[in-house]
Order: sequence, then structure tokens, then C-alpha cells
Amino acid sequence: MKKIGIIGCGIAGLALASLLKKSLDFDISIFEKDNIQDTNVSGIQISPNGKKVLSHLNFSNFQKDNFCSIKKISFFDMVSSSRISDMNLNYLKNESYITLNRSELIKFLIHEYSLSKNIIKQKVVSFDEKKIILEDNNQLEFDIIIVADGIFSKLRINNIKPVYSGYSAIRGFYKNLEIEDHIDVCLGKNCHLVKYPIDKKLNKSFTLVKKIELKQDINHYNYPLENFFNDYKDIIPQDHHEIFKTTKTVIWPIYKLNKIFYGHDKSIFIGDSAHGFIPSRAQGASMALEDSMHLFNLINKNLVSADKLSKLRQKRILKVISKSENNLIIFHLSSFVLRNIRNQIIKIICKIHFLTKTINSYIFDYNANKSDF
Ligand SMILES: Cc1cc2nc3c(=O)[nH]c(=O)nc-3n(C[C@H](O)[C@H](O)[C@H](O)COP(=O)(O)OP(=O)(O)OC[C@H]3O[C@@H](n4cnc5c(N)ncnc54)[C@H](O)[C@@H]3O)c2cc1C
Repeated sequence: MKKIGIIGCGIAGLALASLLKKSLDFDISIFEKDNIQDTNVSGIQISPNGKKVLSHLNFSNFQKDNFCSIKKISFFDMVSSSRISDMNLNYLKNESYITLNRSELIKFLIHEYSLSKNIIKQKVVSFDEKKIILEDNNQLEFDIIIVADGIFSKLRINNIKPVYSGYSAIRGFYKNLEIEDHIDVCLGKNCHLVKYPIDKKLNKSFTLVKKIELKQDINHYNYPLENFFNDYKDIIPQDHHEIFKTTKTVIWPIYKLNKIFYGHDKSIFIGDSAHGFIPSRAQGASMALEDSMHLFNLINKNLVSADKLSKLRQKRILKVISKSENNLIIFHLSSFVLRNIRNQIIKIICKIHFLTKTINSYIFDYNANKSDF
């Protein structure tokens, strides 16, 4: 039986392990340095392209109360405190746009595919094509090694590195009063705020994205942020003051990789370790899921190589990066005239169904399991 070593128990590593365990006969080991079983709340949006991969992984067994199917995206102008328009997503019949707590997805994959037996709780310090070296100096041999260790990977070559985007995300959670099925995107001057439900138990996530100078390099997420409300109350919409006064918040500096890097020959990187980018189109997890599906298909056909994966993925990842970066510019416009033009365009796109579909189709309609290689 072939041995495969996967470094990192994030969405990319676990989705690949689940696909392999579901369909192929491999001896799988997954290495993880952190305690992934702790129930850290972290909201995540998964669009239909990523959801297609999850459907392949028995997502129909995921507890119904633990995720939300999103029916519309509501756009607001924070400066004029007015609603711009609603983008209806009801047309997404086959695969919906979902929001959930990332930890619940991780728990689901581990449970559904009995992956606890395959997880080795150890930090990987280095690797080559056939060998993984652990922190305790143990060396293990594999036929295939996949690196899925996130944007702050220490296993990449030196010239591929995360660069601070200049923006940080301030994130928190609160209890809502009623069950909702929409995402709110509030566009401000040089900032934007996104809020969405993460389950049907009234839990809601918010993320405020803003240019923030980093006083020190923070190479992990979930850094606690004191005084959030006092420091940001001028830009937080008035009707949210009561909620945000008492909410605990963390700061996630937003990094992006200076270059897309799927690895060399048989040393293969996937997910954020290959292409971490700005999350303003909420595509990081979906791209990680697409990567896993493509790599699984290559492994299945005995065609596994970093070059092949890179050829399959480069163009799409570049386009999604560019759409994400454009979104950030459009969301943060500070000029009165440009903001008004933007708001009119959003209204037209939301009103004309054909335009809504067209704007979303490049990202949403993609099926990683059906694309050619
Ligand atoms: C503010 C913000 C909001 C976001 N919102 C969304 C969203 O709504 N929708 C969306 O799709 N994406 C979103 N993303 C992006 C998304 O979270 C990531 O793209 C996605 O989680 C990447 O998954 P991954 O498996 O590649 O990496 P990670 O989730 O980073 O997993 C890597 C794993 O590898 C482990 N590891 C690292 N080094 C080692 C080592 N040496 N040995 C062993 N283990 C190791 C880590 O502990 C970790 O568990 C957001 C990102 C940010 C910053």
C-alpha cells in the first residue's frame, strides 16, 4: 500500500485526506502542530464552487443546525447609513452558498472519515521528496508528501514569503435575536464590515477590514484586540454600538503570498501555503477545497506533480486574486462621487438577474471535479 504524508490539518489537508480515504487505498498520515480540536470560533463562507467539493465529501451528513444556506447578500453604505441593494442568491439551486464555523467543518471531516487515527500531533521541521522530519527528530518515509501548512509555512523555499497587505481584519462573534439567511456587506470610507450567521443557533460573525499599521510582525491569527469599541466607534454603524460594546475581538493581519507556488516536481503545496491571498471575495477555503479535488484526481491517475497541478490552477488562482483585490478597492472608496457611482452600479447588478449571475459565474460555476487535465 502506498504511503502518503500530508503536512497540516487545515481545510486543504483534511479535504485531501478525506477524498483519499473515501476512494483510494492509501496509508495516510497527517501532521499537525497545533491543537485543532479546540473549539475556536471562526466564521467562514464557502461559495458553490467550494461546496461542490464538500458535497463530494458527504456534506449532506453535516448537522443542519451548524451551517446556514445564504439567500442574499445585502449591501449597505456605512457613510450615508443606507441600504444600497440586495443581491438575490436564490437562483443557486444545485449548490448553495454556505456560512459556518470553520472548527465545525474541521470536526466534521475528521469524524466522517475517521481521520483521528491518521493524525500525528507533531510539528514538521523539514521534508524532502520522500522523507518528513519531525520536531522530535523522528524521520518518516513516504511515497508522496503534500504540504498544506498555511500562509505562514516554514517549509517553502526562502524567496516565497507572506507579505503584509496593509490591511487587518478585526473579527468577533455575537448572538443574534433571530435566525437570518443573509450576508451583510457594509461599505465605508477606507473600511468595510461583513456580518453573517454561522449556524441556525443565532450565532453571528463580524469582520471589519481596515488599513492598519502593524507595530510588530504577527505571524498567526487570533491576536486579542483590546478597546475595539472605543477605538472604532466612529466607523461602526450606530445601530451596532450596543452589540459591539461587549464583544470580544481578535485581530487577523491580512497577509498575501508574494508569488503562487505549488512546489517542485513531487514536493507539492496546496491551499494557503501555495497561494494565500486577500480574503475580500471569501475564496480562501473554496480555493483550498478546489486544490484538494484537483490533486486528488492527479493522484488517482498516477500523474502527481507540482508542475501539472500548477498548470491546472495558476490561471484561475490569478483571476480570483485579482477579483479579491479589486473588491477591496471598490469596497473602500473614499471619494463621494466614486462611492455614488459604485452604489448605482451595485443597484443595477442586483436588480438585473442576468448581471448578478454573470458577475458571479466565473467563481461560482467552477467544478473542480469536472475540469480537464
Ligand atoms: C480575516 C479572514 C477571513 C477569511 N474568511 C474566509 C471566508 O469567509 N471564506 C473563505 O473561503 N476563506 C476565508 N479566509 C481564508 C481561509 O481561512 C484560508 O484560505 C483557508 O483556511 C486556508 O486553509 P489551509 O488548509 O490552506 O491553511 P490553514 O487553515 O492555515 O491550515 C494549515 C494547518 O497547518 C498547520 N501547520 C502549519 N505548519 C505546520 C508544521 N510545520 N507542522 C505541522 N502542522 C503545521 C497549522 O497549524 C494549520 O492547522 C479568511 C482569511 C482571513 C485572514
